[in-house]
Amino acid sequence: MRRRLAAIPGVLILSAATALAWQTPAPPFDILIKGGRVLDGSGNPWVRADIGLRGDRIVEVGQLSGRAATLVVDAKDRVVSPGFIDPHSHALEGLTNAQLRDARQLIAQGLTTVIGNPDGGGPTNLAQQRTRLEGEGGIGVNAALVIGHATVRRAAMGDSQQRAPTAEELERMKALVRQGVVDGAFGLSSGLFYEPGRYSKTEEVIALAREAGGVYTSHVRDEGDYDVGVVASVDEVIRIAEEAHVRGIVSHIKALGPDNWGKSATMIAHIEAARGRGVEVFADQYPYEASSTSLGAAVMPGQGAADAREAMEGPESKRIFLGVVKENIRRRGGPKSIVIASGRGGPALSGKNLEEIAASRGVTPEQAATDIVIAGGASIVSFNMSEKDIVAMMQQPWTMGSSDGGISLPGPSLPHPRSNGAFARRLGVYVRERKVISLEQSVRTMTSLTARVFGFTDRGEIRPGAFADIVIFDPAKVVDKATYTKPYELAEGIDWVIVNGQVERREGEFTGTRAGRVLRR
Ligand SMILES: [Zn+2]
Repeated sequence: MRRRLAAIPGVLILSAATALAWQTPAPPFDILIKGGRVLDGSGNPWVRADIGLRGDRIVEVGQLSGRAATLVVDAKDRVVSPGFIDPHSHALEGLTNAQLRDARQLIAQGLTTVIGNPDGGGPTNLAQQRTRLEGEGGIGVNAALVIGHATVRRAAMGDSQQRAPTAEELERMKALVRQGVVDGAFGLSSGLFYEPGRYSKTEEVIALAREAGGVYTSHVRDEGDYDVGVVASVDEVIRIAEEAHVRGIVSHIKALGPDNWGKSATMIAHIEAARGRGVEVFADQYPYEASSTSLGAAVMPGQGAADAREAMEGPESKRIFLGVVKENIRRRGGPKSIVIASGRGGPALSGKNLEEIAASRGVTPEQAATDIVIAGGASIVSFNMSEKDIVAMMQQPWTMGSSDGGISLPGPSLPHPRSNGAFARRLGVYVRERKVISLEQSVRTMTSLTARVFGFTDRGEIRPGAFADIVIFDPAKVVDKATYTKPYELAEGIDWVIVNGQVERREGEFTGTRAGRVLRR
């Protein structure tokens, strides 16, 4: 109104008082974030702007000084960006623990949304999972769900998993996937390296991904060279995305083990070629040279403690079995590169590598590993990636930032530091120190890209109308403090975190507000 009048010569002489009287006074903001360097999440360079929030939304972005607000946040010299979104999180189970519902470990990294049930896992009944997350005072971040392929496979096929499903079982799996979608799943996840996903033919997964629609996110069949190899495994995601007409995501993309280092170039070329012909393929990645899984899955994939026990009974079967374990240890970089995080052996083993454990027991590393699996198993941190591959994959515009981490109370075990550090590490180590990706692009791959891939409307961006999921940080100070020996240290430098318009972190203090919601497709 005022702009139109101002364009007519002569009206310009109207007094300020008259002009103001013509406008309905703008209602005050609930929160006004002033003077920050605003990164809108799209990859655009920052602009200095104020952001006005009302209710759960961003209502104005621009020059807003003089406007009233219940809470004014001075963001001068700090970056204001959309809150980060984790496309591959194991945190949902932990978040239902009363002591972890505030989600401090996630909020400290700037996370405002996590997507759970990765690797084919999670519960069958997503409605129930949603109720558990929303109940008991709620959670500190938004959560989104996918339905797990292994979960529906187990539910439909019972105890006998090492085969293809019958037509009837496949129909049952499809029905479970459909129900998952009704209950809000954004797509299907799979773990084709793990039990029982490994027994699935590609056609089975295509049928279920088609049923799910949305995204198909996969811990691929082979991240190294155990089986079909990592390149063929990426090709399988591409084929599934192409034939099921869904968005394919290579979960925590990597080239595992020294024999596979350098293969990122081929993996990238295949994804680029697929995208070139119109297939929607993406990846996510956590920024560490070590992965984490169970010792059994790493050194005897497809076999369990019972198989190991049986093999160790005969001298010939023992020789063959230990030979396979030895080769799998070598594939991952040798016994020194495999470190026990936690296991049935108790805290005594935590932080020790297979070479040290073998030496202290006077056995070979393959024998020590097998003994640990038979004794109840262990989770491991496995140093098996090359920095060159990590950087090459991080620099792809279709690679989302992820954590692959969970949330747990500090204890004697030494889990992978990614749970507490992944998102801060991208900004501190890869943007600031190593300068391998720009701040704008790094933020984009943690915000709007992920929102687009999963189809979250009105999230992952700073613009009027979007949900007010916002972080404020100092790019010179943001840092991951969690290390392999101190994995529970919280990230630092992301001092303000707002979820759905409510303050979860204020000048570094956690408010325990629990403003998170379970998002629906
Ligand atoms: Zn995984």
